[in-house]
Amino acid sequence: MSQPQARIKIAIQKSGRLTELCLELLQQCGLKYSRGRDQLIGFGENMPVDFLLVRDDDIPGLVRDDVCDLGICGLNVLEEKRLEYQAAGVPEPFKMLQQLDFGHCRLAFAYPEGGDLKKIAAIKGETIATSYPLIVADYLQRNGLQGSVVEFSGAVEIAPSLGRAELICDLVSSGATLAANRLIEGETVLESVACLVQTPVKIPAEKTEWVNRLVERIAGVQQVRGSKYIMMHAPRSALTQIAALLPGAESPTVLPLDAVDDKVAVHVVCRESIFWETLEQLKAAGASSILVLPIEKMLA
Ligand code: ATP
Ligand code: ZN
Repeated sequence: MSQPQARIKIAIQKSGRLTELCLELLQQCGLKYSRGRDQLIGFGENMPVDFLLVRDDDIPGLVRDDVCDLGICGLNVLEEKRLEYQAAGVPEPFKMLQQLDFGHCRLAFAYPEGGDLKKIAAIKGETIATSYPLIVADYLQRNGLQGSVVEFSGAVEIAPSLGRAELICDLVSSGATLAANRLIEGETVLESVACLVQTPVKIPAEKTEWVNRLVERIAGVQQVRGSKYIMMHAPRSALTQIAALLPGAESPTVLPLDAVDDKVAVHVVCRESIFWETLEQLKAAGASSILVLPIEKMLA
């Protein structure tokens, strides 16, 4: 009798900013899944891949303890947990595989409008409210600054008006929440983005094929998002100039055109967005019939 196929597990946020983005990513990797209402597990129907829906703070621990083979969460959460594990003598709790193209934000200090403190270098023992006490304490220590850190698990931005802290260190993306609380953004402690991590434990042989496939597909989806396929006709003599104009392009495919000697067809994948200005420059360099096409899938 053949062995039942080993299923791989990936931990993602249950309900929050990263949830829909992670589910969309898994779908783009070809995963079809079923998930009952309020269920904490989504079952892959066409791949041996299931996902666990948990609080984002629990994701590093699930990956570190090998309950899940893979996990996706913000670098901010990973970094705070990494410092926690480091203090407990665990040097490498998870393997960082890749940064993803969503969940961008920054962990930054913010100061009350009109207050005396305006930059972190001027701190003299004031209290900082944050959900990331280890990252902030580490920053203060590395920069030789004196401050006391108080942990808030939510609503950090109201700590100064409650008289609980003189400043805060919190996640910011647009800055609207800070402005609404009359806080001015200061120095960035960490630029964060969603990341894919893997368990530090060796993946058993029966799982490696699918772990590798999923990781490769995620990389493929990421690459494709900003990439475009460009086709044009161009004079042979302008090929060097044209190649220099294309951002993030690999070496182009150059094809002869029927019954035309001095012109060729050029096909190229560009890994960055193409702006109208670039198309205009290509045209000025002699290119014609320029087409920019979206790419659906790419396997490097
Ligand atoms: P959970 O219930 O899972 O603990 P949470 O409240 O900690 O949820 P969210 O607010 O949903 O988490 O944010 C999840 C992640 O999204 C953050 O850890 C961070 O990496 C990222 N993120 C992106 N932009 C922001 C932002 N403006 N504020 C907070 N987090 C952001
Ligand atoms: Zn959280």
